[in-house]
Amino acid sequence: MEKQGWRCRKLVLVPCPFQGHINPMLQLGTILHSKGFSITVAHAQFNSPQTSNHPDFIFQSLPDGISSKPDIPRDFLAFMSSLNLNCRAPFQEFLSQMIGKQEQQDELPCIIYDALMYFAEAVSSQLKLPSIILQTCSVTTMLTYFAYPRLQEEGYIPPQDSNSTELVPGLHLLRFKDLPSNTFDDLDPTLQLIAILSNIGSSSAIVLCTKLLRRPLVAYWKEDSSCISWLNKQGHNSVIYVSFGSIASVDAKELTEMAWGLANSNQTFLWVIRPDPDNGAEPTDWLPDEFKETVGERGYIVKWAPQQVLAHGAVGGFWSHCGWNSTIESISEGVPMICRPCFGDQKVNTRYISHVWRNGFELENDLERGKIERAIKRLMVEKEGEEMRQKAAELKEKTEVSIKKGGSSNNSLNELVELITSG
Ligand code: UDP
Repeated sequence: MEKQGWRCRKLVLVPCPFQGHINPMLQLGTILHSKGFSITVAHAQFNSPQTSNHPDFIFQSLPDGISSKPDIPRDFLAFMSSLNLNCRAPFQEFLSQMIGKQEQQDELPCIIYDALMYFAEAVSSQLKLPSIILQTCSVTTMLTYFAYPRLQEEGYIPPQDSNSTELVPGLHLLRFKDLPSNTFDDLDPTLQLIAILSNIGSSSAIVLCTKLLRRPLVAYWKEDSSCISWLNKQGHNSVIYVSFGSIASVDAKELTEMAWGLANSNQTFLWVIRPDPDNGAEPTDWLPDEFKETVGERGYIVKWAPQQVLAHGAVGGFWSHCGWNSTIESISEGVPMICRPCFGDQKVNTRYISHVWRNGFELENDLERGKIERAIKRLMVEKEGEEMRQKAAELKEKTEVSIKKGGSSNNSLNELVELITSG
């Protein structure tokens, strides 16, 4: 972090409008508000956040010209590009008006923006306002982004075999197959996205999230809290919670294999199956009646869960796509994981869970009922799973220490506050 101060007490947050991005930003806003900052959230109209959970924040909507939901990850880059293009002028106008009203230097705002909302950096720089980046991925993923130009220059990217298990030079124990790219078939979009994510521009600091704040923030789907009463009836550590986050999806065949794997494991499960965002189709319709009869009360399916279920004593395992939020939420609650990464940084997170922190393992290759059944038993009933649960408990303890006075996260947060306020 560069040492300089701006004497700011006002923060303008610019979140990216996706579930896994907006919550970390609002969590950061909540923490900084508790440190005495006033918080304005300048957000896109698309997926605009519910404001009711944050009565102390000011919300400023930016016209974004977006009329349809992007097909993530296929059209993600094009979507982000129009979002950035369209939000830039309204954001500049909003900030200019804000500056116009200020009489003193300490009333000027500092901008904290999601790395994907790069228009905010361009505007801040033009208006000579300080800015800070929020990266919603892990530090390892961020370092991987920074390593891409070198890897390309040295001829390692694109790799000859993107499924190679060889270690990537200079990236600790990441293998080529773990790299956060959706595909190397068409390298251009991957590199464009990584160039965006690793561009610091004129920003003075990068904030990374390492700990969750236990408080409901924003959910783009209605949370089905009925699962809590069902969890209350289950035994300690007996339930496996299954959720692939807000974007990743499975097809009908995979869903059926998952269903039978869960049924045959004889374990109790809470399973999030989201409806199709475009046409509202309910993938639960694909589930065979025989499956529903077999599991009966042993399985509970919801469209969207309050993910605080991870803190419920009945939840003893998490089968996850390993998005960074889900990963830190699981770690913060001491729940061991089965990792099923789908794209992007999920593969990096999986590698760290399975080979560094050892609080989980990866379910590799095709989703097939026999393998799923084995994986669930391995995590939920076998000695190996118990060892992972132990590791998860140790990690939880470490995260708790890190946010206490003198802990690493606590110190970093104080440094951030100092950077923004001291002159
Ligand atoms: N989440 C939730 N209920 C669900 C599924 C997910 O509240 O049923 C939340 C979860 O707590 C996490 C976010 O959605 O904070 C997903 O973010 P993540 O980075 O894990 O994955 P992404 O959705 O970005 O792929």
